[in-house]
Amino acid sequence: MAMVVNGNELSRELKAGLKDRIDALRMAGKRTPCLAVILVGENPASLSYVKGKEKACASLGMDNRMFHLKENTTQEELEHMIRKCNEDPDIDGILVQLPLPKGLDEFSAIMCIDPSKDVDGLHPINVGRLYLNNPGFAPCTPLGVMEVLKKMHCDPAGRRAVVVGRSKLVGTPVARLLQNANATVTVCHSQTHDLKYICREADILIAAVGKPKFITEDYIKEGAYVVDVGVNRLSNGHLCGDVDFEGVQAHCTAITPVPGGVGPMTITMLLMNTMKAYEEREARHGTR
Ligand code: NAP
Repeated sequence: MAMVVNGNELSRELKAGLKDRIDALRMAGKRTPCLAVILVGENPASLSYVKGKEKACASLGMDNRMFHLKENTTQEELEHMIRKCNEDPDIDGILVQLPLPKGLDEFSAIMCIDPSKDVDGLHPINVGRLYLNNPGFAPCTPLGVMEVLKKMHCDPAGRRAVVVGRSKLVGTPVARLLQNANATVTVCHSQTHDLKYICREADILIAAVGKPKFITEDYIKEGAYVVDVGVNRLSNGHLCGDVDFEGVQAHCTAITPVPGGVGPMTITMLLMNTMKAYEEREARHGTR
């Protein structure tokens, strides 16, 4: 019977550890970590993600500054706001909620974030550090995948890992984190031939495709560790992953469900990254 990793439970465990550390700082009269979130416009999904982040910070006693800019904000105004957050000594982490409204340049905005406060891990300096295996900030969903593997007691070292999907936000950084953890990694995408054959060689299979139940049991090596990053909404309103959970479960050592697998880990890893940014800044500048 496969181990089913409950991402909500794992998130709760990690957040409880973070809360203890923040409580200890407060008890010692020290400054506590602070995450700034910059939202431009009224995209309902973005508004809901930002609310989720505010709630998560509040539940830990982590400080949170929310900057909600109007839809017609100019690039200059947005970048001015980012620079103000860069310079604010009380802010440790900065997240610019994506996507930005049409007409705003996301790359240019991300380039403005101080890499030492880039808790979303999207600044090219942090992307480069991930590729050099010189840890800066890695993106949150890929970090969540690595925590899930830890929970599965799966050390990637020496194992064959296959990542299906090569997006900038998920597939590519997950592959790099796995390689940094000494797995032998193959990255597959829409042009890959013999996908099923390649997946059947995987000790660790990461699905980040965005296609409901795309990975069926005939893609699975007996005893594999399977992490499903996909979130797909079906016509009946239900969510499902990229993996056919029912069919695959019987063949693997461990698997994540959707919903309730990798999904809840993303915000948790953002909070972990903010704590790391705080600790690194305190180490550089001394405790206030
Ligand atoms: P994406 O940008 O659309 O990338 C999908 C990747 O899958 C692409 O690299 C694409 O290849 C590849 N692909 C598409 N069809 C394929 C096929 N038939 N065979 C093999 N590969 C194929 O999506 P994403 O942002 O990486 O997200 C992937 C999934 O994860 C989505 O369901 C998304 O909702 C979910 N997600 C979840 C979280 C979370 O849980 N917190 C966070 C982010 C994303 P090409 O590069 O060749 O086009």
